[in-house]
Amino acid sequence: MIAVDLEEEKKEIIRRYRKLLRKAKPLLKDGDAKMIKKAFNTSLEAHKDMRRKSGEPYIYHPLEVAQICVDEIGLGPTSIISALLHDVVEDTDMEISDIDRMFGKKVGRIIDGLTKISGVFDEGSSQQAENFRKMLLTLSEDVRVILVKLADRLHNMRTLASMPRHKQLKIASETIYIYAPLAHRLGLYAIKSELEDLYLKYTDRETYDSIANKISDTKVSRNKFIRQFIKPLQNEITRTGLNVEIKGRPKSIHSIWNKMKKQNVSFEEVYDLFAIRIIIDTELELEKAACWQVYSIVTDFYQPNPDRLRDWVSTPRSNGYESLHTTVMSATGQWVEVQIRTVRMDEIAEKGYAAHWKYKENTSNESGLEQWIMKVREILEQNDSSAIEFVDDFRSNLFQEEVFVFTPKGDLKTLPYGATALDFAFDIHTEIGAHCLGAKVNQKLVPLNYKLKNGDQVEILTSKKQKPNEDWLKYVVSSKAKSRIKDALKEEKKDAAADGKEIIVRKLGQLKLKLTNQVLDQLVEYFGTKTPLELFYRVGKGKIDHSEIKKFQDRQVEEQKRTRRISDPEVFKGEIKKVRKKDQDLLLIGEDMDVVEYKFAKCCNPIPGDDVFGFVTVSEGIKIHRTTCPNAVELLSNYGYRVIKAKWTSSQDRSFLAGLKVIGTDRIGMINDISNVISSELKVNMRSLSIDTEGGIFEGEIHVYIEDTEHLEKLIENLLKIDGIVNINRFT
Ligand code: MN
Repeated sequence: MIAVDLEEEKKEIIRRYRKLLRKAKPLLKDGDAKMIKKAFNTSLEAHKDMRRKSGEPYIYHPLEVAQICVDEIGLGPTSIISALLHDVVEDTDMEISDIDRMFGKKVGRIIDGLTKISGVFDEGSSQQAENFRKMLLTLSEDVRVILVKLADRLHNMRTLASMPRHKQLKIASETIYIYAPLAHRLGLYAIKSELEDLYLKYTDRETYDSIANKISDTKVSRNKFIRQFIKPLQNEITRTGLNVEIKGRPKSIHSIWNKMKKQNVSFEEVYDLFAIRIIIDTELELEKAACWQVYSIVTDFYQPNPDRLRDWVSTPRSNGYESLHTTVMSATGQWVEVQIRTVRMDEIAEKGYAAHWKYKENTSNESGLEQWIMKVREILEQNDSSAIEFVDDFRSNLFQEEVFVFTPKGDLKTLPYGATALDFAFDIHTEIGAHCLGAKVNQKLVPLNYKLKNGDQVEILTSKKQKPNEDWLKYVVSSKAKSRIKDALKEEKKDAAADGKEIIVRKLGQLKLKLTNQVLDQLVEYFGTKTPLELFYRVGKGKIDHSEIKKFQDRQVEEQKRTRRISDPEVFKGEIKKVRKKDQDLLLIGEDMDVVEYKFAKCCNPIPGDDVFGFVTVSEGIKIHRTTCPNAVELLSNYGYRVIKAKWTSSQDRSFLAGLKVIGTDRIGMINDISNVISSELKVNMRSLSIDTEGGIFEGEIHVYIEDTEHLEKLIENLLKIDGIVNINRFT
């Protein structure tokens, strides 16, 4: 056993903590340092008796993870705090509620996500897909969960040596299966490469060592080559006054190995073992011009291969990568890849979006990150495909390259590789996708499933009569189109079910029966369907012959003989309250004077202005009687508990209060735009407007006085046109 110098260890812990603070300092605002200190102390205390497999104090791990978040991903205080606490709930007595209380809900949610996904791969393999899905759903809640998790994984991979062999293999496999692709998708190239290299190191040590050795063996001659290659460029660029740094970077071990496998060549035959990177320090407005100016100089000296020009400066990749790549012929007859980019682009390429948002003016790093979270959420937007499907869709999207195409107006659209005209249509708009008939690509007519090529100009042809069918799922590759088609098919199923329900109600009606819950249960049982919806759907689609419903009569007759329990009026009222009706009749019912569904009693035919009351009937909802109705006395005296208040609204307040929940992405001027639409455009009276913004999401509750549902629909329609509003719901 090795004696541990506890005093020395304590000093080392403090040293590491101070290093973290030093690096984080530029990112901190008032009070952040205090919270970070609190998180550090909490974590230190919680892990105080724990050691890592290597024998080191456990606290080194959360400290390192936080350090990675700052140095290598460019994250701010929320993530630092979360990183420090990331193992606390899983490994100690502390609970999420404690975290909530001490560090706020935002950190609490991130820790909760981290705790949940830690079990992703622990269950049997059948569970993996479902767990993975859960993990991605957590990601869509707050992408910081995944970023901290990636930092955690990176540190675990860096310290994998102290793990037993079977754990090494398990952890390394998970890493290559999901974490490296995730890092790639999120634009974290440096982390992605390191994870891949570490994977190779722990799964195929021989190959890893052999490539690593060869890279270091050839270092001297490579550096000499690079120096000679760079020299004329450096001179010329300096002459133009541009401030650049030029370096030669060997490719990652894993990517060299991939090339060797793919092209079936030896290490010596891989021609692009390294790339020359020219990093320009320039202002944002001059970036593009500067990149092309450098390109021009490079190609003055070296002949470019026209097939290998990649312009991700004009059109950045969807994960945010920007760079200008060319491959040129060196003086010694060797192809060399040259990457031209600015300091800003380089930082994004290495650290991903988090770094990107640092460059946005007027947004602090963290709030910019919120915007990015929204973007990632978009990528993940996916409805209820099964877990396995979800994993497949998502994984294939992770690895997919992109295809660039244009709208008829010349707008650029980026779609996953293999996307079809139908994918394009759904990318433009759900409605256009749903009615897509075919397309014109470069003026030529093509079918829905035409595979798009780079540079295609696509015009979608639609028809009102067209609608999605099952086959369409085979034509599309983007998750957006897939989920939209699935939604539409589901919607269609619902419509068929509604038809089916109508048929059943009509058939039962002919037999003098009503579709009560009880009858419905019996029908479901009788026809052996799983749910009422399925029953309706099958009838609607004609898969169940509705004449069979007749056989039901006997059973129902028996049923009717039994005494039926009168439904509790309170329950009933609550239920029908949900069914808000068009308010032309302007009758308010119940203690809280709500607008609910009702019918006029035939015995007294009330008209507006009459003194009335509501009576809860067993099967026909609320009936409105005049207080002077011949039946009133009997009803009121015998069934007092079923009587509810009803009152006509006076002509002055011919409006009723409606609540709207508005959800969207937050931006400056949003509130102003909303109140403009409400008060100026539609002349609606607003009673209250309350706003809550968190994580870049805007959530507003609006109370307005409106005349009728038509009026309300118009209002919702206009509000939805406001830039940034994604969803409006009515609430009661
Ligand atoms: Mn950890």
